[in-house]
Amino acid sequence: MKTDFIIVGQGLAGTLLTHELIKLGKTVQVIDSPDFQKASAVAAGLINPVVFRRLTKSWLIDELYPQLEDTYVELEALLGNSIYHPKKIRKIFGAGEADFWRKKAVENDLLQYLQIEPDESGYPELKLEHGSGWVEKAGRVDLNNLLTGFREYLLKRKCLHEFNFDYSRLVIHPDRVEYGDLAASKIIFCEGHRASQNPYFQNIQFKHTKGEVFKLKTTGYHADFILNKAFFLMPVGGNEYRMGATYDWNKLDEVPTASAKEELCGKLEQVFGGAYSLTEHAAGIRPTTHDRRPVLGLHPEYPQIGIFNGLGSKGCMLGPYFTKQFVALLIDKSSLINPEVNLTRYS
Ligand SMILES: Cc1cc2nc3c(=O)[nH]c(=O)nc-3n(C[C@H](O)[C@H](O)[C@H](O)COP(=O)(O)OP(=O)(O)OC[C@H]3O[C@@H](n4cnc5c(N)ncnc54)[C@H](O)[C@@H]3O)c2cc1C
Repeated sequence: MKTDFIIVGQGLAGTLLTHELIKLGKTVQVIDSPDFQKASAVAAGLINPVVFRRLTKSWLIDELYPQLEDTYVELEALLGNSIYHPKKIRKIFGAGEADFWRKKAVENDLLQYLQIEPDESGYPELKLEHGSGWVEKAGRVDLNNLLTGFREYLLKRKCLHEFNFDYSRLVIHPDRVEYGDLAASKIIFCEGHRASQNPYFQNIQFKHTKGEVFKLKTTGYHADFILNKAFFLMPVGGNEYRMGATYDWNKLDEVPTASAKEELCGKLEQVFGGAYSLTEHAAGIRPTTHDRRPVLGLHPEYPQIGIFNGLGSKGCMLGPYFTKQFVALLIDKSSLINPEVNLTRYS
């Protein structure tokens, strides 16, 4: 079977890339393992345009935001399910933080993202002794609906192959690659953290991060905003919420731990006095590079092979923008990639 592209991996990266290529009329065959866990299936899907610690804009957010909104709305229409949920973030202030916000909102050009006059309107469960501020242009991407919807879409188009890709079976010709009975002009790897085992990209310095998230149900508390105070509590419908997330650079496995439960429930209970019960606990590995920037590009020796990876903890924001940049390069090799994400930084 001849195709323009083989994509390995149908997490967020592979899904966005495949969608964009199909939109441009390219033929794509996707290989995705049914055995491996996807970070995208664990992720909470939070979109937050600001970095709270220093109160700055998230990297490139002015450029990323329009692209992400357009892409997820477009995918909603294509797949006929609900994916993009704009929601405000309510940041609970510590002592002196309201003044810090007022100062930094102006200094760091954040006025379009922050509502700096605190709104104390009533949630008796929340401990707001120093007030709170609001973040606009935030929200949630329902990655579960996106991934399962897109999988169905690929199955209907007969372009999904569910097995583990074996690197030793890839045959590279000057003008194409072959894998079993598939032949393609290019193969693009979107394997998430498993790219560390990809023999063609051993020079990339990955520094993956384990993360854990929870689902919980509340009694009495109903809020349509995302609560934040060194953790997030995100409404996902009814009285269900997702709570996250932990960061661990050392123990890279996909096993939920008691220490993550203690850490996040402890943070929650410092500011939330309502009744709740945990209903789900999951762990995954965020594919992350040493400089916490995505990595994309074509192999220097074999331009038939490419990689799209390193979406880290902000895949939902970074994915749509850098997919378009990568696809522009795949279609027109003179097209430029932001040097901060270019694979060439590892050569
Ligand atoms: C706990 C946690 C919380 C997170 N929360 C957020 C959040 O709130 N907001 C946000 O933007 N991001 C969040 N992220 C990050 C987000 O999950 C990632 O940025 C993004 O999902 C990475 O997508 P990916 O496609 O690169 O990798 P993955 O989703 O891991 O997909 C990789 C795919 O490749 C396939 N694959 C790998 N090797 C092979 C092979 N040899 N053969 C066949 N298939 C293969 C796998 O089966 C998988 O389907 C979170 C991550 C975690 C772990």
